[in-house]
Amino acid sequence: MKISKILKDNRVTVSFEVFPPKQWDKLETTKQTVRELCKYSPDFMSVTYGAAGTTSGFTTEIANEVKDCGITPLSHLTCLTSSRDKIHQVVSELDANGIENILALRGDVPQGFEFTDRQYFSNAYQLVNEIKSINPNICVGGACYPEVHPESKNRVEDIAHLKEKVDCGVEFLTTQMFFDNEKFFNFYEMCQIKGINVPIIAGIMPITNANQVKRSIELSNSSVPAKFFRIMERFGDDPDKMKQAGIIYATDQIIDLMANGFNNIHIYTMNKPDVAMAIMNGLSSIINE
Ligand code: FAD
Repeated sequence: MKISKILKDNRVTVSFEVFPPKQWDKLETTKQTVRELCKYSPDFMSVTYGAAGTTSGFTTEIANEVKDCGITPLSHLTCLTSSRDKIHQVVSELDANGIENILALRGDVPQGFEFTDRQYFSNAYQLVNEIKSINPNICVGGACYPEVHPESKNRVEDIAHLKEKVDCGVEFLTTQMFFDNEKFFNFYEMCQIKGINVPIIAGIMPITNANQVKRSIELSNSSVPAKFFRIMERFGDDPDKMKQAGIIYATDQIIDLMANGFNNIHIYTMNKPDVAMAIMNGLSSIINE
């Protein structure tokens, strides 16, 4: 099913993200993780593509596993380091496998990478155009940044580029993780003012160990509220306590989003079915409409 259709009526939706393995020998383990996650009936499941500039080979295979479990897959696709031919090959492969949804991304700039005049794709909007030119029926989503993309000079510029990307045919947006809902509320309001009217799915990352916070902040540029720092200070050295506190913090964030009328939630599961299960159990009455 197209994600635009799933999001159409602004009913409550909860989706999950998984990442594919880097090596063949971990493929079966990741497929097992997908099967476990699908038991909690997410509205769709997204599969990353070569996260942090690494492998991309298994995205279609994992997206197929999601589909085989009866859940709608959303396949991520990055373009910065890809040729036009490679993009055509991947989009055709997804199409042939009946995968109707693509999250069109630029990808992070690898260390030492230099933009040249011959660069075919420099930004995600060009990938959106390319996908639509290959098959206008594919439902295309894009990424957005409540706390501004790290390369942007300021929010005004970032939102102007986001509007251009949406105008190329993006049908929904998924946010970078954030830990402070106020940042999301402000961002959403700014999008409304600038005429960005597609559904915006709030991306929530449950932090279940203290080391993960440091890495997540480095990668995402997200700020961490004092409340969460205090949780880490108190429980960071005890894995069980930290995990429980992180799950409850993420659940609380989701409840607050929903109480404010934001019904579309995406959980960065980090391939941890037990964490997804704990959050879904914590929301069981709330998400059952
Ligand atoms: P863009 O939309 O191109 O934006 C990148 C920067 O360029 C921004 O600062 C923007 O303001 C600016 N910009 C946009 N258009 C223009 C223009 N016309 N002229 C000048 N500047 C412009 N990475 C992976 O490798 N694999 C994944 O699977 C993956 N999944 C992700 C999922 C989500 C929900 C999110 C939020 C991020 C994901 N990323 C992934 C990371 C993403 O690739 C990086 O954040 C990347 O740096 C930006 O990608 P983008 O698609 O947002 O780029």
